[in-house]
Amino acid sequence: MTAATINETRDKSMPLASAAPVDINSPSPASGPPALRPLLDPAIADLLANKPDRLLSLVEDFGSPLNIVWPHILGKNLAALKTVLDAQAINHEIFYAAKVNKSQSLVHAAVESGLGIDASSLYEFRDALKAGADPARICGTGPAKTRDFLRALVEYRALISIDSMEELAGLEDLLPERGVEAPVRVTLRYRPTASQNSRFGMPADDIGKSLTRLAEQTGRFHFEGFHFHLGGYRPEARAEAVAELAPWVVAASALGLTVKMIDVGGGLPIRYVDSESYDVFLQAQDHDHYRNGIIPASFYPYGGRMDAQDWLSRFLAASCGPDATVADFLKREGITLGLEPGRCLADQTAITVFRITRVKSQADGNHILFVEGSSFSACETWFNSEFLVDPVLLPCRPHRPEDDAAFRAYIAGHSCLDEDIITNRLISFPARPQAGDLLVYANTAGYQMDLLENEFHRVPMPRRIAVNNDLTTVIADDLSGEVE
Ligand SMILES: *Cc1c(COP(=O)(O)O)cnc(C)c1O
Repeated sequence: MTAATINETRDKSMPLASAAPVDINSPSPASGPPALRPLLDPAIADLLANKPDRLLSLVEDFGSPLNIVWPHILGKNLAALKTVLDAQAINHEIFYAAKVNKSQSLVHAAVESGLGIDASSLYEFRDALKAGADPARICGTGPAKTRDFLRALVEYRALISIDSMEELAGLEDLLPERGVEAPVRVTLRYRPTASQNSRFGMPADDIGKSLTRLAEQTGRFHFEGFHFHLGGYRPEARAEAVAELAPWVVAASALGLTVKMIDVGGGLPIRYVDSESYDVFLQAQDHDHYRNGIIPASFYPYGGRMDAQDWLSRFLAASCGPDATVADFLKREGITLGLEPGRCLADQTAITVFRITRVKSQADGNHILFVEGSSFSACETWFNSEFLVDPVLLPCRPHRPEDDAAFRAYIAGHSCLDEDIITNRLISFPARPQAGDLLVYANTAGYQMDLLENEFHRVPMPRRIAVNNDLTTVIADDLSGEVE
């Protein structure tokens, strides 16, 4: 997948007119932490480098923070996955895990690209229907589905991933005793040995018991296969889970049930910054690179060596039982590979733009950049971690010569919560930012921009807009289910 840093696409001959971007690629000061420049989709890199005025006027119109979504980029991410699957002729069904972002434009883009939808609430389910999804291509996941959600899934004959024997019992209660016109389509969610302490899915014993119960009720249920979803990003862990399910494929068959699909969930990783810079950053990390002196215990692998395509190749090539890879096993058994990617389909599809509202000096020589908005719109600090991607500074007016000194700051939201910190990391800027300048956080679509958003301090929800490649179309994308 192509991704360019700002530097690569920036027109170097561009005069420093109003709102010229500061080149964030200037070397970091020797004392400061190494830079973590965002990898950018070319359309976004072009906007930041060549049309900063456009961004300033969008923030003028829609306020700060502003979430901007490029739905067409989802199709590019899908194409990257399909290349791997098609090259190995793997039968597959991909469900977009809608929880990754609340944008209805992204759900639309997923449906238009031919994807199914992984919905884990009644509301995500309705969004999928509104976006025109075929209900048969929607799978309902989640560990404790509400009765209303289950009812809707049953009514539309969507695929239901049953999380527990208790949920199966609840589902049995919903169905008429004497059988139904069309059986309810279900998969059983397995809890792999590697995640025995998880509260999601069923242990092997319960898989066996559930299979028996489903085999006794073929008039009411249509068993379609197995499902699991693991934390962490190792493809080999998924291959082990598939291998653990192999005996259950046989057991199902002995009961007269056919495993049509094994759905291995999501967790395909993406890369936010280039791997070499990331390694340098991690090596050089020091307590005094953080305003609170605390290096977080763990990070998402922002500059990991593996992207979603590599992950998929490694997963398919991983060993699955004696003398077989996952790809061999799936083909031999005629099983469709189910995937539920969220983050990797949303890769590069959105940015979050904050306007700086105050620049405050600190006694230690560092600074605080207060932005209009809060850390609920870039929320990694709420998970005791840090979004390891530097924000891009776009000045709103030319810098004065006296501002041209190296500058370090952490970034805070404008609320009265002491915890409202967007970036604890002290970020180096080549010149002093000013109130009114923009800070652009790239690649926030995946669980960053809207996971925790709220109306704290009675400040209205941040706006979300969807745009096309060259920003000739701008549509509101705020309300669940409605793209205006
Ligand atoms: C969250 C989730 C996903 C998506 O995970 P990503 O890491 O975003 O790919 C898929 N399936 C289930 C069941 C989930 O809970």
